[in-house]
Amino acid sequence: MNVLVINAGSSSLKYQLMNPETGDVTAKGLCERIYIDGRLTHKVGDKKVVKEIPMPTHSEAISAVLDILQDAEHGVIKSVDEIDAVGHRVLHGGMKFSDSCIIDDACIKAIEDCIPLGPLHNPANLMGIRACQAVMPGKPQVAVFDTAFHMTMPPKAYRYAIPAEYYENDDIRRYGFHGTSHKYIARRVAALLGKNEFKLVNCHLGNGSSLSAVKDGKCMDTSMGLSPLAGVPMGTRSGDIDACVVQFICNKYGMSVDECLNMLNKKSGVLAISGVSSDFRDLEDGAANGDEKCQLALDKFCYEVAKYVGSYTAALNGIDILTFTAGVGENGPETRQAICDYLGFMGVKLDPEKNKVRGKEMCISTPDSSVQVWVVPTNEELMIAQDTAELVNAAK
Ligand code: ADP
Repeated sequence: MNVLVINAGSSSLKYQLMNPETGDVTAKGLCERIYIDGRLTHKVGDKKVVKEIPMPTHSEAISAVLDILQDAEHGVIKSVDEIDAVGHRVLHGGMKFSDSCIIDDACIKAIEDCIPLGPLHNPANLMGIRACQAVMPGKPQVAVFDTAFHMTMPPKAYRYAIPAEYYENDDIRRYGFHGTSHKYIARRVAALLGKNEFKLVNCHLGNGSSLSAVKDGKCMDTSMGLSPLAGVPMGTRSGDIDACVVQFICNKYGMSVDECLNMLNKKSGVLAISGVSSDFRDLEDGAANGDEKCQLALDKFCYEVAKYVGSYTAALNGIDILTFTAGVGENGPETRQAICDYLGFMGVKLDPEKNKVRGKEMCISTPDSSVQVWVVPTNEELMIAQDTAELVNAAK
C-alpha cells in the first residue's frame, strides 16, 4: 500500500510517499513559498531536485507534487492510481476528535468548527485537504489530529481551575499537542516491552517540546495546553508562565495581548535566556566556550523537564519507563544526562556509554536502574500513514 502523507502549513506543504507496513519512504519533499512564487524540493533516496514552480494556491502545490511523483526522471510511480490513500496532519481536533477520521463533509465541518482553537494551523490544514480533493477526486483521505491521543486524559488533568462557563461554553481546557508522536512512542514501547500494561513518561524534546504521562497506552496527562505555548520552555516559547506577566508587560509597554503572546511564542524560551539561539547545538557550543547565558538556558530547560517527569511520576504513582524522542531527545546526550541527574532520587541511572547514542532506538539505563530509560526516534509520518491505512482498509 502507498500512502501520501501531507503536512500543510499556511505557505508550505511537506509530503512523504510511504508504505505503512514497512515504513519505507519512496519519496519525500517540501513545497515552499506557496501564494508567493513557489519552490519544490523533492528527494528520492540520496537524490535531491529543486524546482521553481508557480504555486498561486495549495492546489498547484499538490499538482506539482503529483507531477514530480510521476516524472520520468525523478518520479517513483507511473500513475496517481498507485497512491492508495492520503493522510493529513491536522493540528486541532478540539473535543470533536479522539481518533483519526476518514475525511468527508462532516469531518471537514468539524475541523472548521475547531478553527477558533487552532486559528493559525487548521485553516492551512484544510487548504491541503481541499487541494487534494480538487486534484485527486474520490481518493480516500484521512485526518490525523495532533490533539487526538490526549483525549483520554481525565477531567482533573484537562480542566483549568477557572470558571466552568469557559469550559462549558467555549471548550477552554487542556488539549495537548505532538499527540501523533506520543502515540507512536507509546506503541513502540508496548512492542519493546512486549506488553500493553506499562507506565511511561515520554519526553518529546525538539524545537517544540512536550511531555506526556501514559498508562497502558493511554494518555493521562500532557504538558501543552489549550495551545502549544504551555509546558516546558522551548526553542522560542516561554512554556508555563504566570498570566500576570502578560498583564504587566501589556500595561507597561502598551502592547496588545496578541503582540505579547507573539513575544511569548516566538521570542522567548531558550532563545531569550541565551540571547544566542533556539538551537540546542548552538547552546551547547556556547556553554562549552564559557557563555553563562547559554549554560543558564540549558539548565533552565533540563530543570523544568525534570520537574515535569517528577510530577508525572507522582501522577502515575511510579513509572516503568522514561523515553526521549525528537531532535534534542534523540541527539542530545548531555541534555538527557542533565535531566536524569535530577531523577537519581527515584533510582534512575543512565549508562554513560549507552547514553552516547544519537538517533537510534536503544535502552540507555543501567540494568539496576529502577526505571528503564530509552531513546526512541519518533516517526509522526509513519503513524499518520498507519492510521490512514487502518481506517481506509476498515472502510473497504
Ligand atoms: P521540531 O520541533 O521543529 O520538529 P526537531 O524535533 O527537529 O524540531 O528538533 C530540532 C532541535 O533538535 C534543534 O533545534 C536542535 O537544537 C536539536 N538537535 C538536532 N540535532 C541535534 C544534535 N545532533 N545535537 C543536539 N541537538 C540537536
